Amino acid sequence: MLRVPLTLLSAVSFVLCAAAAVLWPATHTVGVTLARFSTSDAEYRLISGHGNAQFAKVPFVRPTASPQSWEETTRVGCTLSQWIIDGQHGWAASVPHLLLIGVFAIPPTLGLSSWLRRKRRQRYAPALCRHCGYDLRASHDRCPECGTKIVPMRIPTASGASQRPL
Ligand SMILES: [Zn+2]
Repeated sequence: MLRVPLTLLSAVSFVLCAAAAVLWPATHTVGVTLARFSTSDAEYRLISGHGNAQFAKVPFVRPTASPQSWEETTRVGCTLSQWIIDGQHGWAASVPHLLLIGVFAIPPTLGLSSWLRRKRRQRYAPALCRHCGYDLRASHDRCPECGTKIVPMRIPTASGASQRPL
């Protein structure tokens, strides 16, 4: 149910984390425009450079126009710049690559730990039939209740050694 969207989120997040980890050193000394698209009144740019990823809306204005206002806010290393030039509103949001790597690493890390927990639970599950839940400790080939073939599994002991497969 929820596992598929979470796995998808983890996969996308892992790709973004890897992209940020590659872009961080590759664009550390130079700014590179990764994507850009235009509307009738502005150009939107995705830029990587100098340790940051930046998404900006740059309005089309006269080359001679000067900014009427400029405002910059910085929190947790992230900067939001806003300006008005020639009556047009522009903005740029910058996020450090290191912060992106940390944030994008969270879903895959949680997904991996959840998968490991699930595997451990399955591995050390009591000897119950996976189909009907019948206690299989006295059975060796098939579940006496529903007839499901018993999948061999190892049971851990207190000493850490495994007993024979069921
Ligand atoms: Zn059964």
